Amino acid sequence: MSNKPSIAYFSMEIGLETAMATYSGGLGVLAGDTLRAAADAKLPMVGITLLSRKGYFRQRLDDDGNQLEEAVHWPVDDYLVPVDARAVVEIEDRQVAIRAWRYDIKGCGGHIVPVYLLDTEVEGNSDFDHSLTDQLYGGDDYYRLCQETVLGIGGIRVLRALGLTEIERYHMNEGHSSLLVLELLAEQTQQQDAAQTTQKHMAAVRQQCVFTTHTPVAAGHDRYPMAVAYRVLRQCNPFNDCTEEICCGNELNLTYLALAASHYVNGVAKKHRETSQKMFEGYLIDSITNGVHAYTWASDAMRSLFTNKIPDWRSDNAGLRYAMNIPHEEIWQAHQSAKHQLLEYVNKVSNSGMDQHVMTLGFARRATQYKRATLLFSDIQRLINITEHCGPLQIIFAGKAHPKDQQGKAIIRQIFEFKKQLSDQVRITYLPDYDMEIGRLMTAGVDLWLNTPLPPMEASGTSGMKAAINGVPSLSIMDGWWIEGCIEGVTGWAISNSETPSDADVKTAHEADILYAKLENIIMPMYYHNRDAYIEVMRHAIAINGSFFNTERMVGQYVTKAYFT
Ligand SMILES: *Cc1c(COP(=O)(O)O)cnc(C)c1O
Repeated sequence: MSNKPSIAYFSMEIGLETAMATYSGGLGVLAGDTLRAAADAKLPMVGITLLSRKGYFRQRLDDDGNQLEEAVHWPVDDYLVPVDARAVVEIEDRQVAIRAWRYDIKGCGGHIVPVYLLDTEVEGNSDFDHSLTDQLYGGDDYYRLCQETVLGIGGIRVLRALGLTEIERYHMNEGHSSLLVLELLAEQTQQQDAAQTTQKHMAAVRQQCVFTTHTPVAAGHDRYPMAVAYRVLRQCNPFNDCTEEICCGNELNLTYLALAASHYVNGVAKKHRETSQKMFEGYLIDSITNGVHAYTWASDAMRSLFTNKIPDWRSDNAGLRYAMNIPHEEIWQAHQSAKHQLLEYVNKVSNSGMDQHVMTLGFARRATQYKRATLLFSDIQRLINITEHCGPLQIIFAGKAHPKDQQGKAIIRQIFEFKKQLSDQVRITYLPDYDMEIGRLMTAGVDLWLNTPLPPMEASGTSGMKAAINGVPSLSIMDGWWIEGCIEGVTGWAISNSETPSDADVKTAHEADILYAKLENIIMPMYYHNRDAYIEVMRHAIAINGSFFNTERMVGQYVTKAYFT
């Protein structure tokens, strides 16, 4: 296989390192894990994203749980190397110049996957255009479409300026980057010396493109009124030539553009494939279930334990199945070490006096309504009764709400309210500014990972996979990856809702009831009184789920199903 990049992976956000503010959440972390696994597998891949000089935002929480958002300033020069390549894109009647920075991801065998971060802070650009690569998911429609022009069209031009002309596949991680299709169409049209872009060119582009859709939430798909689309893209010929094919109704929908231009499209779990297939009738949708980069997410103590017992686990994650041979005591010790690290951090930042011997629940994800962070507090008295009967509980939360998501912000305030109400019975803390480092501490250090989304909204979810690698079982609603990962009482526990009452409130109450019943009757008694049985579930989480829900397996499936077809 040639060492020249032949797959270009485009993503609006990529989680490279905690201190680099180039990601906001799950999508970016998955992109980073994908590229880390590609580097381990020595794949000829290159990543493209925006620099996000000011990041998403830094979250502070006041005593009532009000979210305060602050701009991030991260030292770009400390992490990235500038490259000479330059490109220009046309936005409205402006020529916007783009430069790039390079970050190298080094795989476990030394292979490098370079990531290029696009930057419009270039002399000659207007102040507004300087700002285009500042904010992740900020600004209005116009700002966002300009950013996506830089990412998609600018990204292809920067690859060409770098001399990367022989790329065979373009992978769009979510629709944000799908304007790259317009540039590939322009290249096809030019190569064939045609006056106009036609369906024939689209057929050629389709062979080059792969698209992964990530969300069943309508707001997750970028759509623009035609007036905004014409304004930004008016100098783009493929857009003008193919407006009818590219736009639907009276809008430009970046998801439909990606669907129309890809020979392979997938959802991120089996259930999500079904949901997406219903959303996008007329397109064939496959599924490749997400994973996490095992080495990145394993705690220091688990890394040592695995390296000791399964020496080549980093380059061959399937070997985690042999965790079945690791003695209970050693798994427990490694977990205690991760728990100690977490509680030390929690007690330092929140002064909440959490205790190593108390069963600890973790819940960390974007604070938004469908994730239902407060399901656990549906019946406060029952929760108190459970701790009185079964033993103490402590709960750690984290997660940011999008600055415009008022309901999401209200959820954080509610958790602060429950924290006050329960202060005598259950220690609760909400860690501010959830990021990859906190994610790593939490998924490794809690005793049980809680996940309560409203089905079918959780396309996959990945934090429960991080927990599994660390031997932390999940108690989760049956949605996303957990439908595939849950073996009841073996890898964790399901909050399954086979009855489907039409009334949403009745359904939610039923789910809360199952959640309480499993904690009270099965999980907490096992944790406190049958420790060996609990550790056996922990061991299965590693051996059965850690060995499968990783990005090594996932990237392998992209290679056989999407890249080399
Ligand atoms: C893993 C991770 C996510 C995604 O978690 P989900 O379970 O998919 O919601 C989001 N943010 C951070 C910081 C993470 O580490």
